[in-house]
Amino acid sequence: MTHLVNDPTTFAADSLRGFVAAHPTYVQPVHGGVVRATGSPAGEVSVVVGGGSGHYPAFAGWVGPGMAHGAVCGNVFASPSASQVQAVIRAADNGGGTVLLYGNYAGDVLHFGQGAVHRRAEGADVREIAISDDVASRPVEEWRGRRGIAGDLLVVKATGAAAAAGLDLDGVAAVAERANARTRSVGVAFTGCTLPGAPEPLFGVAAGGYALGLGIHGEQGLSTAPLVPATEIARTLVDALLAEEPTPGQDGAGYQRRAAVLLNGLGATTHEELFLLYGSVADLLTERGIVIVAPEVGEQVTSLDMAGCSLSLMFLDPELEELWTAPADTPAFRRGAVPAGTTRRIVTEDRAEAPVIEGSAESRAQAEAIATVLDTVADLARRAEAELGRIDAVAGDGDHGQGMVLGSTAAARAGRAALGEAAGARTVLSRAGAAWAEGAGGTSGALWGAALGTVAAGLSDQEARDGAELIAAVAAGGQAIQDLGGATVGDKTMVDAVAPFVERLVEAYAADPDLPRAWAEAADRATEAADRTALIPARLGRARTHGDDSIGTPDPGAVSFALVMAGIGRLLAGH
Ligand code: ADP
Ligand code: MG
Repeated sequence: MTHLVNDPTTFAADSLRGFVAAHPTYVQPVHGGVVRATGSPAGEVSVVVGGGSGHYPAFAGWVGPGMAHGAVCGNVFASPSASQVQAVIRAADNGGGTVLLYGNYAGDVLHFGQGAVHRRAEGADVREIAISDDVASRPVEEWRGRRGIAGDLLVVKATGAAAAAGLDLDGVAAVAERANARTRSVGVAFTGCTLPGAPEPLFGVAAGGYALGLGIHGEQGLSTAPLVPATEIARTLVDALLAEEPTPGQDGAGYQRRAAVLLNGLGATTHEELFLLYGSVADLLTERGIVIVAPEVGEQVTSLDMAGCSLSLMFLDPELEELWTAPADTPAFRRGAVPAGTTRRIVTEDRAEAPVIEGSAESRAQAEAIATVLDTVADLARRAEAELGRIDAVAGDGDHGQGMVLGSTAAARAGRAALGEAAGARTVLSRAGAAWAEGAGGTSGALWGAALGTVAAGLSDQEARDGAELIAAVAAGGQAIQDLGGATVGDKTMVDAVAPFVERLVEAYAADPDLPRAWAEAADRATEAADRTALIPARLGRARTHGDDSIGTPDPGAVSFALVMAGIGRLLAGH
């Protein structure tokens, strides 16, 4: 468990503050994360990495000459928001475009993808690579859809070195793609990990056993077995990776059975144990004819206090070998001698929000009602937090309760702040949506943020909206969830509750224009639909890796959506 905490909800931010204080010659804080403290040559491609916190050194620990230019830092196990991604890309820019690297998880794909879109709209060139090294998460034919784990280090190292070598954006992006295609990882876990402030671990591994193929967010392993001697575990890991070794001389890029090797500790496995295991790994790789190049044994991608480790190989060609062995100087990864940087990077941040334009009296009255709804939602989320976390832990990563609380609390606060500046309904809800996405992180945070933003676009700061207009705005918000997430009914996501909710709301209001009654009926429909998701396996989102494990448990995002709609229904009905 975590022993050093002030407030669990600010754990990631508090930790990042101390990290910056400890490494002022390497990093400086910016909105959404950190960028290098040192200057870079004008025109150098910038490499921006990121993801949730709880994985140090990934990702902020790799910012420095020879590796990343910036890191976007989300909450514990939750993706940073699109606006944070955009802000860090902007602050890390050297005028040569950006290669954006993140692990392949649904929430990260959404937020980093949106952040890149926003940054491109500012005229910058941004390429994205979602790292997908974990062989246990999907079969080899679907390797591009695998999740990213400790192989992140190998891909970021090669990509950062390519940028430092002066390659242009196409060149650096091509290196990142090839490094990812050549990197494979597999992990084992011995115990689960505990979120800061949580009373018990997110998941457990039976005492005296080990789980093969765990994810770094506590997603369960794909198989469990009684513990065996370390030499046997070494063999299992090596076999799993060498099963996907390219054929030397046949892949066009010059693979000659030379490999970069990382034996990574997950947070609570001692270095002595890692070295013990590495001894066997090195023997086995050598026996199998692999030449080990510049091995790394230590913690690079952790998972809070999880006990366990992972083995990663990057099958090298001459260019990747040169990049893997090139110098680097960062808080957590140092190799060779990097010429001391003398210049200091000057970051000017431009994140002033547009000032609030005062709303009309009618619109402000609606804004007041919206702020009350947001307070109610935050209150509901707090009361449901533990239960939502529990059902998300069954097939997901256990953070849905936390994400809903962080998102809805930030939304309520931002809404109240805008109201305090005399904003109208549209501005209040639009600020609340942006705050939800930023505060929550995670897939559902992006979707709720987009939905509220879309509903807001259907409101006005001048005129009050009538019932039919409100319902049209809510329907558009529901559609935004489907458009952004790409899910349809039956995929076992929140869409399974959103779609029937909207459908019933529109129908019931058309039949009888009584908003509280129509809302209550629609909320009932959403609740039934959310309950029914227990019967189907997950096909999308983080839960898809463990699709069948989710049978018997409803989808957390659908359940929370239905809860929120039912709570708003009670508020509208006046009780
Ligand atoms: P994360 O999956 O990033 O940990 P949360 O735990 O907060 O995020 O939310 C999980 C919920 O998000 C799921 O239960 C599901 O309802 C919803 N979700 C995930 N992916 C999608 C998607 N593509 N479309 C709609 N909803 C989704
Ligand atoms: Mg989750």
